[in-house]
Amino acid sequence: MSFSNLGLSNPILQAIKDLGYITPTPIQKQAIPLIISGKDLIATAQTGTGKTASFVLPILEIFNKERQLRGKRIRALILTPTRELAVQVAANIAEYGKHLSLSSMAVYGGIDAEPQVQRLIEGVDILVATPGRLLHLAHQRALHFDELEVLVLDEADRMVDMGFANDIYKITDRLPETRQNLLFSATMSHEVRALADDFSYSKMSKPAVEISISPEATTAPTIKQWLITVDKDTKSTLLSHLINEQKWDQALIFIEKKHGAAKLVAQLAKRGIEADCIHGDRSQAMREKILADFKSGKLKYLVATGVAARGIDIGELSRVVNYDLPFKPEEYIHRIGRTGRAGATGEAISFVAMGDFKNLCAIESRLNHLIDRKEIEEFPVRKVVPVSVLNYVRKRHRS
Ligand code: AMP
Repeated sequence: MSFSNLGLSNPILQAIKDLGYITPTPIQKQAIPLIISGKDLIATAQTGTGKTASFVLPILEIFNKERQLRGKRIRALILTPTRELAVQVAANIAEYGKHLSLSSMAVYGGIDAEPQVQRLIEGVDILVATPGRLLHLAHQRALHFDELEVLVLDEADRMVDMGFANDIYKITDRLPETRQNLLFSATMSHEVRALADDFSYSKMSKPAVEISISPEATTAPTIKQWLITVDKDTKSTLLSHLINEQKWDQALIFIEKKHGAAKLVAQLAKRGIEADCIHGDRSQAMREKILADFKSGKLKYLVATGVAARGIDIGELSRVVNYDLPFKPEEYIHRIGRTGRAGATGEAISFVAMGDFKNLCAIESRLNHLIDRKEIEEFPVRKVVPVSVLNYVRKRHRS
């Protein structure tokens, strides 16, 4: 099947062609015609499946038919958990809509609101926003929702995890009852389900169509995953060793704590490896600059905390490193979804110390397979990590 069978017009097909997309991904095949036909949608799809295009392309198609926009009005609202994802989605809209005359912008916190307020005066067809800044702008009456036609919740599970559920309810309370609702989430938890249910209570609409793309909620097969067991105190030397010995061209390195990120950058620098880091304490301008350098290849090694790295989309990211293993299996899947996107190959390497054993069991149980282990001769471990049990169920839930 090609994109031309999905009901998209020529200017959109041309933009897709310009980007080199040849075939639609599974979520695009299913979601695009459904959304064009006006259906509400609840989609379980992880990042890296092409989900952004699966909602942006049909919205462009619908809006291109009829163009009417009044001041301070928006026609589609896309809510995202982080600034980085908002910027990324807005960039995708600009690419996919480059042959159309629809307007779009991203609003998010951490920067001056005034230019955003000014930009909204004329109205915007598609607004991408993080919940906090959107509410702030709405309170200031910088925008009105009375002409909103489509609401998208992107990475809904992540928004719930980050504590945005109440903000989302506050926002949906302000929206017209008759609208099209689209929800995308990597996982479908009780809370995400509640958000989705809230949509259907608000209007007399038919139930949303549900689609699920990663049936086993697992990782793309093009990603080579492996792990190295390591003692905690040798992690940074191991990382430097791998970067140098294996001549890594690029790596996105996930770390647990903000101060750990800065420390790791300093440790790498001591060994002659130039890296930089992004985390919640760095200014938005700085984060954007570092990301731009990483994307352009100027910066080869980026250390990031999980939240800061959310939404990073680097066309051809070849390598992701879990310097610290994440606690939740979903987070592992999200992270390694940063590489091997839409068919490209990539590798995901996890450092696993004895203290990570339970997390490893949870992750491998979720994947339903063991991750290949590699031994690095120069780094024999003192505390051996046993082989996981694959039917592991966590006893107590720690958040
Ligand atoms: P997403 O899941 O939306 O984060 O998209 C993952 C990556 O896949 C992005 O870099 C997109 O540009 C790319 N992509 C999306 N759809 C396609 C497609 N049909 N063919 C090739 N690449 C795609």
